[in-house]
Amino acid sequence: MELKFASIAEIARAVKDKKISAKEITTYFLNRIESLDSKLNSFTALNQKAIKQAEDLDVRIAHGEAVGVLAGVPFGIKEMLCTKGIQTTAGSKMLSNFVPPYDSTVVSRLKASDSIILGKLNQDEFAMGSSNETSFHGSVKNPWNLDFVPGGSSGGSAAAQAARLVAGSIGTDTGGSIRQPSSFCGIVGVKPTYGRVSRYGVVAFASSLDQAGPMVSSVEDAALTLEVICGHDEMDSTTSQRPVPQWSKNISTNMNGIKVGLIKEYMRGGLDADVQRTFDESIEALKKMGAQIIELSISMTDFSVPVYYLVSGCEASSNLARYDGVRYGYRSDFKNLSSISLDEFYGKTRGEGFGSEVKRRIMLGTYCLSSGYYDAYYLKACQVRRLLTNQYLEGFQKCDVILSPVTTSPAFKIGERINDPLEMYLNDIFTTSTNLAGLPGMSIPFGISKQGLPIGMQITAKHYDEQRMLNVAAALESVSPVKGLKPYVI
Ligand code: GLN
Repeated sequence: MELKFASIAEIARAVKDKKISAKEITTYFLNRIESLDSKLNSFTALNQKAIKQAEDLDVRIAHGEAVGVLAGVPFGIKEMLCTKGIQTTAGSKMLSNFVPPYDSTVVSRLKASDSIILGKLNQDEFAMGSSNETSFHGSVKNPWNLDFVPGGSSGGSAAAQAARLVAGSIGTDTGGSIRQPSSFCGIVGVKPTYGRVSRYGVVAFASSLDQAGPMVSSVEDAALTLEVICGHDEMDSTTSQRPVPQWSKNISTNMNGIKVGLIKEYMRGGLDADVQRTFDESIEALKKMGAQIIELSISMTDFSVPVYYLVSGCEASSNLARYDGVRYGYRSDFKNLSSISLDEFYGKTRGEGFGSEVKRRIMLGTYCLSSGYYDAYYLKACQVRRLLTNQYLEGFQKCDVILSPVTTSPAFKIGERINDPLEMYLNDIFTTSTNLAGLPGMSIPFGISKQGLPIGMQITAKHYDEQRMLNVAAALESVSPVKGLKPYVI
């Protein structure tokens, strides 16, 4: 087993069978981070207790104790997720001094399954962005070509996974932040159905859209990780009571009779030539394997970007109101608190603590929620969101999954779009509707651009039908032309 390329299942088995110790694995990956991450900037903090935790696990194994399904598997965690005793800044100066006193449910479930948390991964500030350029910790580089962005907002998770600094990583997806960076970095990223994964301890961006999920190297690894992190949590009342299936044991690449939908509105052209070719090839591949291709109209997808930026901005403006410098987080350096007004206190603290993209969203959201504008913007957006969801539900009566590109182009150059917010928002044209409708969606690597950058395809399924989505992804994975290609940094 070459550790660098070992799957999550292989690592856990080897640790349980005592072929390799958890300590050796942890040391190996920490050394990789040490030697490679100066190029990528994907890690923002390391877990200082990782080696000790691995040693403790090895002692338990030596004593013949039963251990969890992810025993010894090293994971990296996006900064959005609280980790007890390890900094959780959400990529923001506002939380630069925040060390959570508790673990998010996702992290406590990973720990309960005996995985080893190596540290925290860089991201766009408060998960707002598509390029990882809005982070307080600086940009992350794409391991396939260091001049290019890794995507965002989970850019650190994607880069660390693609460069194999971890065996698995966790991201969050509000409008595409797991799928888009997974596509840009050539890994497998899954946004589960809304309600599958607890948001307890996940820094809130837009609560009706946010979901955490795996960003890993294979469909099987994604299924295994989902089995650990999904499921009802009494700490998050929006989590589903449904049992968590054994997805990894039921993966089937048999595409006979599977109906794959294509959204007509997504096929009006305008795709980068390499993305178009990859999309066409993925359709052909599925046809060849026995799938039936069906064209659908989901006309409300035309409005998904504006509706997403309205809904997410409104929710963000409300969620981020808590960062006022009073209870925790950043506070401006006031010489004499008694001489300033409350407005000045909040204004200076928030003015310095938040970056410009976050401020733009707070202003947009506050404006749209203010009386007089609420009905015209927020309410209207919620109505369109409902219509969009209804159209998807109708669509899924005709097909099992929907296939589309993840983005219109492969990764772009660092600096190319950061000064044009609208251009940046258009990155989310194919991903946001999935969140608005609460559907599961994922990215699977299927192409490579002429410049040598990976291209992912997006698969969406109906609510709670992750199995079918994973099956189609596994079928594509089995014939993927990018299988075996690796980013040059590794
Ligand atoms: N790019 C989108 C945004 O900036 C998506 C972010 C996300 O999914 N967290 O809002």
